[in-house]
Amino acid sequence: MTDYDLIELAKQASENSYSPYSKFKVGAALLCRDGTVFLGCNVENVSFGATNCAERTAIFSAIINGHREFSKIAVVGMSDGKIKDFTPPCGICRQVLKEFCGSDFSIILFDGKNTKTLTMDEITPNWFSEF
Ligand SMILES: [Zn+2]
Repeated sequence: MTDYDLIELAKQASENSYSPYSKFKVGAALLCRDGTVFLGCNVENVSFGATNCAERTAIFSAIINGHREFSKIAVVGMSDGKIKDFTPPCGICRQVLKEFCGSDFSIILFDGKNTKTLTMDEITPNWFSEF
């Protein structure tokens, strides 16, 4: 599974986005260490706080199916049917990803032309881990 394969799956996942408020369709494709892929899209709600992001949808789908070891995730955001910029995970998704993903986990972003790969350590410096 190449990064571009994963990006293509993330694009397909964005087509199922429920985003009547932002009109911003986000798709994610999460690759498990065993090769299984779980897709996610953003699911908005009129009570905006109840909205779930594509990344968390993918992670939660994987968890409910018994998967907890992941190697990478591709995330794309579509506006007016086009990818216009990189769509990095929000703060809540970063925290959720950190719960299950180690330092070698990669976050693959795509702006329509180029890819950008971030590491878990880059997106979660000084993260909350102990209480
Ligand atoms: Zn998010």
